[in-house]
Amino acid sequence: MTIWKEYLLANSIEQAFELLDSVDDSTCWVGGGSDLMLEVQQGRRKPADRMVDLNSIPQLGVLELQDGCLLIGAGVPVSKIASSPIVKEHAQAVVEATRLIGGPQVRNVATLGGNVAHALPAADGMISLVAMDAIAIIAQKAGMDEQPILKLFKGPGITMLEKNQIILQFRIKQREKGEGSAFQRIMRPQGVALPILNLAIWVKRDKEMVLDLRVVFGPSGPVPTRASFVEAALRGKLMSQDAINEALAAITATVNFRTSKNRATAEYRHQIARQLFVKTLASAWERAESA
Ligand SMILES: Cc1cc2nc3c(=O)[nH]c(=O)nc-3n(C[C@H](O)[C@H](O)[C@H](O)COP(=O)(O)OP(=O)(O)OC[C@H]3O[C@@H](n4cnc5c(N)ncnc54)[C@H](O)[C@@H]3O)c2cc1C
Repeated sequence: MTIWKEYLLANSIEQAFELLDSVDDSTCWVGGGSDLMLEVQQGRRKPADRMVDLNSIPQLGVLELQDGCLLIGAGVPVSKIASSPIVKEHAQAVVEATRLIGGPQVRNVATLGGNVAHALPAADGMISLVAMDAIAIIAQKAGMDEQPILKLFKGPGITMLEKNQIILQFRIKQREKGEGSAFQRIMRPQGVALPILNLAIWVKRDKEMVLDLRVVFGPSGPVPTRASFVEAALRGKLMSQDAINEALAAITATVNFRTSKNRATAEYRHQIARQLFVKTLASAWERAESA
């Protein structure tokens, strides 16, 4: 089967836009191709006239600390992110999420840019970036733009990104004293792609006080969403079994799990969400103490 007619490498942002300009609608960007190629092969997406590979654009390969922030290039293979000491120090949830994506072969090509742009509501890397409150840095012909990651999504598999926009990098604030994060997921033993349920938590503490937190379950709606009532049940409280019980009650009452025919029922997801929450929170909380 023909997946593309032309496959081209862009060496700069300008060149990527030139390649896009010169043809019709059926040009698309390629990161690692791990979602894209499969979708075309399985008939879920039309073959492309032209695929423009973004991996040689220097800005997409960045992985560094800059001005108090961690910058992760949208084209960095997730295997590199999973083993990066600076990502481990500043965004442990992202390390834990990227470490679980696919198997070694997939992780060596898959990128966070593709994970986010594919926009599935349980994509592991994307869920961890939401908990870290990442900002997406986007290139477009008119210049650069920045968007909070939650603003990028329109629906399952659909982003707000225009065809002529490229995600360059994700920016995450450097970890400060009292902050920690964690990511965990529940997967069918024979599963290869998306989990039954995943969860990323970022928390800031002062001794036993929960100063702030972000809680993101995937999938919990058509687009990634913060579990704001769960967060409110703990924010500003002393960490205690009572406070955790309130957060668990908020999960049951407000988190919108759905039944998906290939993975799990909403009822099952509600049941396992409780254990997943307790374990992931404990891990983020402990890390926050050591920061
Ligand atoms: C066997 C297997 C197992 C997998 N397991 C998991 C898993 O456990 N968890 C999980 O979350 N995912 C999993 N995936 C899905 C996939 O590997 C990830 O979503 C991956 O991160 C996608 O990145 P990519 O670079 O390969 O994206 P691509 O396939 O290259 O692109 C995906 C989409 O994003 C667009 N795009 C790519 N880069 C950019 C950019 N910089 N700017 C704008 N648009 C862009 C493309 O045009 C395309 O529409 C699995 C896939 C396979 C094949």
